[in-house]
Amino acid sequence: MDFSFTQEQRQLRQSVLDFAKSALNGDLAKRDQTREFPRDLWKQCAEFGILGLPIPSEWGGRGLDMVSVFYALEGLGYGCRDNGLVFSMHAHLWGVAMPLLLFGTPDQKKKYLPRLCNGTMIGSIAMAEPESGSDAFNLKTRAVKKGAAYVLNGSKTLITNAPVAGLYLVFAAVEPPGPVGVTAFLIERAAPGLTVGRTLETMGLRSSPLGELSFQDCEVPAQNLLGKAGDGPAIFTGAMELERCGIPASHVGAMERILERCVAYARERRQFGKTIGEFQAVSHKVAEMRIRLETSRLLVYRAAWLKSQGKHALLEASITKAHVGDAYIQTCLDAVQIFGGRGYLTESELERELRDAIPSRIYSGTSEIQKKIIAGWLGL
Ligand SMILES: Cc1cc2nc3c(=O)[nH]c(=O)nc-3n(C[C@H](O)[C@H](O)[C@H](O)COP(=O)(O)OP(=O)(O)OC[C@H]3O[C@@H](n4cnc5c(N)ncnc54)[C@H](O)[C@@H]3O)c2cc1C
Repeated sequence: MDFSFTQEQRQLRQSVLDFAKSALNGDLAKRDQTREFPRDLWKQCAEFGILGLPIPSEWGGRGLDMVSVFYALEGLGYGCRDNGLVFSMHAHLWGVAMPLLLFGTPDQKKKYLPRLCNGTMIGSIAMAEPESGSDAFNLKTRAVKKGAAYVLNGSKTLITNAPVAGLYLVFAAVEPPGPVGVTAFLIERAAPGLTVGRTLETMGLRSSPLGELSFQDCEVPAQNLLGKAGDGPAIFTGAMELERCGIPASHVGAMERILERCVAYARERRQFGKTIGEFQAVSHKVAEMRIRLETSRLLVYRAAWLKSQGKHALLEASITKAHVGDAYIQTCLDAVQIFGGRGYLTESELERELRDAIPSRIYSGTSEIQKKIIAGWLGL
């Protein structure tokens, strides 16, 4: 068993980290206040190649294996303190670009993948609805076949990138009900009958726009189906498998960045004539942060390795998602505690880190749902 990264992989991670650190953190606090999506930074990330890391070069990407991709995304999570921007990139990559690569026709790939990689088109995956979240496939949005097209009616909520996207991967239940079931459609923003609704106000990840969509007699040509009618569950499950280990890769980077800040502060801050790091109550918190960082990292790269070998990682993805979500939130909570009153101040950025971490137990399937999946693999 070889746990080392190659020289090229280390260079890639470092180059993404350096780029992110120098280019993506300006006006961060302002974006958190104004909830502004940084389109210019999105474009810069595209130019750097981040939006096409796993997409083959013939479609405008860098064609990297999953271990390299995840390692680069760890560097992104470390270097970019705008966790919202990082989150939006993950939704775009795992929710739209990869499903297109895996299930798209050559025409669909040619039409959309280069634009998704070069930053001119933002992707958004739309499954959740007002009445179906965890019970993801129990959709009210309906698609009725009409000649060579499908007519969609329904609504979606809690959709990352919805307010800014140009391409939506939308899931709907095909009518009449029968063996066909949930189906995936590629729908452009300008499609008649699609309305991009309000932008939702959130606790954290505020530079990542979250919104609503509604469909009123939205006619979608049959060539815009991704895969075949009824392939929706397989497409969504594949997207979630990657997203549930891909997003944690960036959390690992963020956890390392936060840990380093805590170590530096514990060495420098003095109380009772000693550095606070000399108090076991503080040093053990830091040690636990390191344990969580390492266990999270191992889980992320085991899943990445499985995917790079072309193997399934459904169980591993759920374990990674559940563990890293908890680890990330606890790390942020501990960081606020170690910094004391300063940690509570907005200027410390730690309260924002905590707000940004909280939804990691909710998106891509809640922690409860990951545990349900894990228990299912154990026959329960
Ligand atoms: C920041 C963010 C970004 C998101 N981005 C997207 C996106 O891009 N596209 C998209 O389609 N969706 C997106 N979502 C929606 C997300 O997938 C749902 O919020 C999530 O699946 C939970 O669904 P829900 O909110 O309806 O909660 P519910 O399903 O109503 O769950 C409420 C509570 O009940 C628990 N629960 C439900 N069922 C069970 C069960 N069987 N066993 C045990 N506990 C259960 C849940 O764990 C939760 O604690 C996003 C959500 C967030 C917070």
